[in-house]
Amino acid sequence: MDTANACFGAHPKSLDKSESVTKRQILDLFEIPLPDLLVQAQKAHREHFDAREIRASTLVSIKTGACTEDCAYCAQSSHHADPVPYQPLMSVDDVLEAGRKAKAAGATRLCMGAAWRSPRTGPQFDAVLEMVRGVKSLGLEACMTLGMLDDEQAGRLKQAGLDYYNHNLDTSPEYYSKIISTRTFQDRLDTIRRVQEAGIRVCSGGILGMGESREDRAGLLHELANLPVPPESVPINKLMPMAGTPLSDAAPLDDLEIVRAIAVTRILLPATQIRLSAGRSSMSHALQLLCFLAGANGIFLGDQLLTAENPSQNEDKAMIESFGMVLRTEN
Ligand code: SF4
Repeated sequence: MDTANACFGAHPKSLDKSESVTKRQILDLFEIPLPDLLVQAQKAHREHFDAREIRASTLVSIKTGACTEDCAYCAQSSHHADPVPYQPLMSVDDVLEAGRKAKAAGATRLCMGAAWRSPRTGPQFDAVLEMVRGVKSLGLEACMTLGMLDDEQAGRLKQAGLDYYNHNLDTSPEYYSKIISTRTFQDRLDTIRRVQEAGIRVCSGGILGMGESREDRAGLLHELANLPVPPESVPINKLMPMAGTPLSDAAPLDDLEIVRAIAVTRILLPATQIRLSAGRSSMSHALQLLCFLAGANGIFLGDQLLTAENPSQNEDKAMIESFGMVLRTEN
């Protein structure tokens, strides 16, 4: 079978679940010779985006560390040795100041992350809602990642004006329990459903290089591609091994497997923003260019990604310019 032709376009661009892509089809995509896979991904990319354009957004950690979850990759978990220092929830004023700075630097979206299993309804959640309203009043789009939500919280975030909610699936359903034991894959799907039902756009992706198999990578993409509503944004992270975490000595994933995974994501989700997220600081410019050619069209700007290192803003701007590409802030 000519998998290159058989699989291209197999995934629905709409919400028609009758066209659900199978995991076998996704694995077939992974096996296409890389030059052909890149051409397919470019074709899909150019049908929906200006392929020279890289979109940028900024990320601020509004509450750091002391997280009760045990995600094996995360230095914010209180289950691991050497967790990052705890910083309580930022004040609304400080978040708005960060928003003003982000806007002055050209951003039109502020992504705010809190290291929680789930937010507690009460004064803290009220402050979060105030942050959303304040960020919106600055003329910025607001994105939050706060952990698991219930229906009421999702509805209140929507009412406050939240544009995007980030909730990563991280890996395949089969591999999930090897990475996290304090919640289930189904918990993640439930929050994504609540967020979508509340009318908030979803940002959801995963982390590559946690010891998972290619089948697990295909399994993650299978879940993302078959969500009732495809995610508007998919962050693809390369594991940054953190000292003290169970994955601190994880063997690095082959660079070209990351390129393949991005290309497959682009083919499956042609109209979705694919953000090359954590891990860029360990990637050469040439590898990042390959990722963009495979269909990644977003990055985070700023030298810190929650707790992970990120290239400096000036370095990123120079890199994008050297590719003859254009860095565009979100809108
Ligand atoms: S990834 Fe999020 S939920 Fe998991 S330990 Fe880190 S901060 Fe907590």
